[in-house]
Amino acid sequence: MSLKLAVIGAGPAGYPAALAAARLGAQVTVFEKGPLGGVCLNCGCIPSKSLLDAAHRFDAIRDIARFCQDGAETTAQTLLTQLSWEKIQARQQAVTRKLTGGIGMLFKQAKINVVAAEASFKDPHTLYAQVGEEIKEFVFDYIIVAAGSTAFVPPPFDKIRGHIYDNSNIFQIPRLPKKLAIIGGGVIGCEFAALMSSLGVNVSVVEMQPRLLPTMEESLARLLSQNLQKKGVRLLVGKQAVDARLEKERKILTLSDGTELEADDILVAIGRSCDLTSLHPENAGLAWTRKGLQGINPQTLQVKEHIYAAGDITGLSLLAHAASRQGEVAAHNICGVPMTYNNDLIPSAVYTSPELASVGLTRTQAQQRGLNVKVQKAFMLANGRALTQDAAEGFVEIVSHAESGKLLGVCLAAPNASEIISLFTVALEAGFTVQQLRRVVFPHPTVSEAVADALAR
Ligand SMILES: Cc1cc2nc3c(=O)[nH]c(=O)nc-3n(C[C@H](O)[C@H](O)[C@H](O)COP(=O)(O)OP(=O)(O)OC[C@H]3O[C@@H](n4cnc5c(N)ncnc54)[C@H](O)[C@@H]3O)c2cc1C
Repeated sequence: MSLKLAVIGAGPAGYPAALAAARLGAQVTVFEKGPLGGVCLNCGCIPSKSLLDAAHRFDAIRDIARFCQDGAETTAQTLLTQLSWEKIQARQQAVTRKLTGGIGMLFKQAKINVVAAEASFKDPHTLYAQVGEEIKEFVFDYIIVAAGSTAFVPPPFDKIRGHIYDNSNIFQIPRLPKKLAIIGGGVIGCEFAALMSSLGVNVSVVEMQPRLLPTMEESLARLLSQNLQKKGVRLLVGKQAVDARLEKERKILTLSDGTELEADDILVAIGRSCDLTSLHPENAGLAWTRKGLQGINPQTLQVKEHIYAAGDITGLSLLAHAASRQGEVAAHNICGVPMTYNNDLIPSAVYTSPELASVGLTRTQAQQRGLNVKVQKAFMLANGRALTQDAAEGFVEIVSHAESGKLLGVCLAAPNASEIISLFTVALEAGFTVQQLRRVVFPHPTVSEAVADALAR
């Protein structure tokens, strides 16, 4: 008899887990209280990239007049004033519908049972959920908890919760504000700062750390800060918003240096949080905090003999591709095909202009681990393809072990950095040395030629 598996959540962790387990012969039931696709498809990765794409097109309009006959500036200016936020949102929603519909089809083909309801633990093997008027019980051999995360909105912002946006519901903002204050200069805050300013919004970013992107290499953050400032974004780093209040239509923030910041809208983008209260994991003997479930084996994703976890709920990474790999690893291990997860080889990207990406160890992280490192760097200023695109601000920085030459990590700022980074993920996965990477021939002219350039140094 095939094993019975429950997957709680159909986000980027849950749906690949369900599909992998079904392929391996398990009888799978997915519980999903919201739309299929989780945060990523409905209010995360995909909607934000759709908005960023629209924003880039408006940047291109600003730039187009220099390739046109005199007077074209007025035409470009007219187009900019005709921006339709409704149409931008409609395209974003259409993309989401297409992708979530695709998951539904895949589930159907794989004969996966979907329970469109919130699941809770009754005991370690039993889940219950309200289906229609009835509360039904379901018994399983194995369970994967892939319940994801929600926006973190701590004090002082919680007191005006209904009047501000967070990193999930910002996509529903009905109109573009004139002035937007973004709290948090992490990846989501920076992507929104970039896209909103390209759409003509006056943006301020408040970040309590001394710089943007506190978890990424400083040189990437510096470049991004310069570019955001060039776009007119006001960066208030090293400052904390200590109070938030409403005055009629206006929202007013008090910052830690005593100054006030006024905005039409506020976006709180300071992180994600796990709330498992209604899942009742304690009934299965599972402990949790705001950061996620406790006691997860980071390689196998096992929490208890028959319970596994995947995605944001593990607290290992807050990225969709990490979630998907974790889901697949959990499903394989449950179905008797051993597989391990390696959090060190998860690439990350920021979809600003230029795009930023990194994988493996940064120079700073490698040095903190006491490694003797060699750093090879090339600037896009010398890259033909980047120059043809007026995108020569970036760089590629390759970190390797000084003695063995083993590749340790890479960070880059370049057009299509989010695509180029996969080259390095493959190289790291394969355990390449920089000497081996040096043998690769890159087509000319491409941005990735900068890799060969860096390695030649
Ligand atoms: C604005 C924004 C932009 C982002 N951009 C990127 C990006 O560009 N790249 C990237 O890699 N990551 C990005 N992320 C992060 C990415 O979206 C998450 O890491 C990813 O969605 C996590 O997947 P998950 O399956 O763990 O959780 P989720 O996507 O949160 O899915 C969990 C699902 O579980 C369901 N659920 C929860 N509890 C229950 C229950 N008890 N019963 C039934 N169902 C339940 C929820 O309804 C949800 O659908 C972004 C996030 C945000 C907010």
